[in-house]
Amino acid sequence: MKHVLVTGGAGFIGRHLVKALLNRGARVTVLDDMSTGHRENLPSHPRLTVTEGCVTRLPDPGPVDMIYNLACRASPRHYQADPIGTWRASVHGVEQVASLARRHSARIVHSSTSEVYGDPEVTPQTEAYVGHVNPVGPRACYDESKRAAETLLADLYRIEGLQVRIARIFNTYGPGMAADDGRVVSNFVVQALKGVPLTIYGDGRQTRSFCHVRDMVAGLLALGETEGIDGAIVNIGNPGEFTIAALAAKIAALAGVPLEIAPAPLPADDPRQRRPDITRARALLGWEPKVELDEGLADTMAHFRELLALT
Ligand code: UDP
Repeated sequence: MKHVLVTGGAGFIGRHLVKALLNRGARVTVLDDMSTGHRENLPSHPRLTVTEGCVTRLPDPGPVDMIYNLACRASPRHYQADPIGTWRASVHGVEQVASLARRHSARIVHSSTSEVYGDPEVTPQTEAYVGHVNPVGPRACYDESKRAAETLLADLYRIEGLQVRIARIFNTYGPGMAADDGRVVSNFVVQALKGVPLTIYGDGRQTRSFCHVRDMVAGLLALGETEGIDGAIVNIGNPGEFTIAALAAKIAALAGVPLEIAPAPLPADDPRQRRPDITRARALLGWEPKVELDEGLADTMAHFRELLALT
């Protein structure tokens, strides 16, 4: 039986990944500081151990075959609320993960981000694009620390053949998001269901590409399970690209409410466009997303309907 450590396993993507790993028969250890994750996100299961703690002081869970390193706040609202903690979780956290992987000869699947591309000047973004990032802006604690984490892992792969795979995760949404997550899909869905105006930042012409969490988990599993791809860096995302204004209109229509907008200023350094080129994921992993945005928004809305009815 494989033993898999998932740092950040009580968070949004983590909770879905942990369930999928349990379904595959793995023994799973979760480490999460519960800053944005929650114990209740995870099932009680005889093969699951949940430990509360920070990835920067990673306890040794014993022999482990694989480490999914998901520990880091990922929503701008949360990572900007604690920029130093965010930086530490990324940079010191990945050092700890690399040491543990070396000790146990484990494979690492590291969650990086489309934010390494910053405010991209090319579209779509391939993995070869080196990015356009402000090193000192309000997003830098996340963008630059994720870039630094990639640097360390890439060097350890080159120097000592550390078994590492890097997922550049693009905007992910779906059931299981927290109502206070702060990201656009959860904000708009919650606002539409409450019948309050949707907070579009700026003119709403900036774009994002939204990947359903079911597809994301399938991509992460494929990245961990495919043989012979150590050192791979792969975009995992859905290439369907939408303006934020179009997303707002879709969500209002789905909720059956008229589109009312509460305009708000565009945050500093907010990327104007984002769209993954997933040629590499298709070729290397045989993976591509399957969930269309309309279908994915419908089940996300069903999740929030239940969540809001409870509170
Ligand atoms: N956004 C918005 N209203 C919101 C939340 C976000 O218009 O209530 C915009 C935000 O400015 C950005 C996009 O939606 O252009 C995606 O933001 P999010 O925080 O979801 O993720 P990001 O891709 O910026 O990390």
